[in-house]
Amino acid sequence: MPDRRRDLPAVEALLNHPELATVDAPRVLKRRAAREVLAAARKELAAVPGAGTTAPGGVSGPNGPAPASVDALAARAAARARGLAQQGLRPLVNATGVVVHTNFGRSVLSPSAQQAAAAAAARYSTLEFDVEHGRRGARLGAVRELLIELTGAEDALVVNNCAAAVLLTLGALAQGREVLVSRGELVEIGGSFRMPDIMSRSGARLREVGTTNKTHREDYIRAIGPDTALMLKVHRSNFVMDGFVSEVGLAELVAIGREHGLPVAEDLGSGALVDLAAHVGHEPTAAESLAAGASVVMFSGDKLLGGPQAGILVGEGALIRRLALDPLARAVRLDKLSIAALEATLRAYLEPERAWAEIPTLRLLARPRRELLAEAGALAQAVGGVSPDLEVTVVEVASRVGGGALPMAPLPSAAVALRPRGGADTVEALEADLRTGEPPIVGRIEEGQLILDMRTLLPGDGEQIVAALAQRAQVRQAGDRS
Ligand SMILES: *Cc1c(COP(=O)(O)O)cnc(C)c1O
Repeated sequence: MPDRRRDLPAVEALLNHPELATVDAPRVLKRRAAREVLAAARKELAAVPGAGTTAPGGVSGPNGPAPASVDALAARAAARARGLAQQGLRPLVNATGVVVHTNFGRSVLSPSAQQAAAAAAARYSTLEFDVEHGRRGARLGAVRELLIELTGAEDALVVNNCAAAVLLTLGALAQGREVLVSRGELVEIGGSFRMPDIMSRSGARLREVGTTNKTHREDYIRAIGPDTALMLKVHRSNFVMDGFVSEVGLAELVAIGREHGLPVAEDLGSGALVDLAAHVGHEPTAAESLAAGASVVMFSGDKLLGGPQAGILVGEGALIRRLALDPLARAVRLDKLSIAALEATLRAYLEPERAWAEIPTLRLLARPRRELLAEAGALAQAVGGVSPDLEVTVVEVASRVGGGALPMAPLPSAAVALRPRGGADTVEALEADLRTGEPPIVGRIEEGQLILDMRTLLPGDGEQIVAALAQRAQVRQAGDRS
């Protein structure tokens, strides 16, 4: 029996087919696309019992389906080549209402932070150069000064992210010795950051204290021994404990530490630089933790701070210097684009009203429902105009802060809700079409509707949503006619 797999075209034949030849992509990627498509076709034919034999007329016969035509294979390869040539990391429309969304890059940078990063990328810079004296300068000079000013710390250090800040602190201050942590604070944040694992990787020994729901002052005191190097407090950023619970507050922990000559470090996680109480709920600030006596406080640059990915450490001069001199600090140092963006972000905080106006994360958190309702009304009207097959309504919803901050603080928000009016369309198909479009538009399905939360839409996003839905309506109408 003849083998149908031999009927498949050669890679070169697909490359020369106009469908693939006209794709604007590097030749290596088109070749890879052609190879992948042919390999898949070969596998398909091998998997079908009776395939590999030719049916009369090349159509699906009793011996299995015919191989796809050369035209169809070339079209598949062209689509694959376009996918390979497309930028992988690209902008997306966040209509989820989760402001600090780790999957979507957490914080959007302020215009001044964007400009600072672009300038540092495009030109040589003063990264580690002291222009006044014409010699090597401090890499974190201005960022360090700003953090000292904004938090009241004696000294500051910035590394790659907060996970690295915790790893560095534990490794440099407690390697081979014990760190006391309450059992109620052995948290996991986003899959790969689990406190016990970071602890063991740092070379410090975890000494668990208290119970899951209750940890008392005596639990810490009983656990202190000659091997104790540090007491660590971890902010429960992504969950709350309620009911029969108690914990030892930071100030009390600091008092215990002072009695026993032990430093207290705090992993704040999100860590705000301004008081969010008026808009979202209270999230501890780094300045508060330092005022309560923490020796080292760690937090992220791209959560509530609203800057680039970074791990910020502020605290006592002697301890921060020890951390800065540790070899691990060099391995987890911050890159120049992030330093530039962080400096510009921190500068806005010198005038808090400027921070609220300029930094997108803060601005989005502060948007009141009435403003969002008005915007939802306008968007709903525009969407209704292009999508006759969708039922479009404005609904009140709750957005979330995200990024491991204030998990229980719902933000009163407004959304446009879309529901296919029946026929063959479904809300799942609608969601998938928007998500896989260009740019991807991501909302959430709730009770048979696609919810597009206004809170996290940036300027221009509404137009993208209208354009995507208009195009979808056109494609579906054309499909109905054919
Ligand atoms: C988010 C978080 C971290 C990790 O911060 P990254 O900047 O993502 O590395 C560590 N600790 C806590 C408590 C957090 O909430």
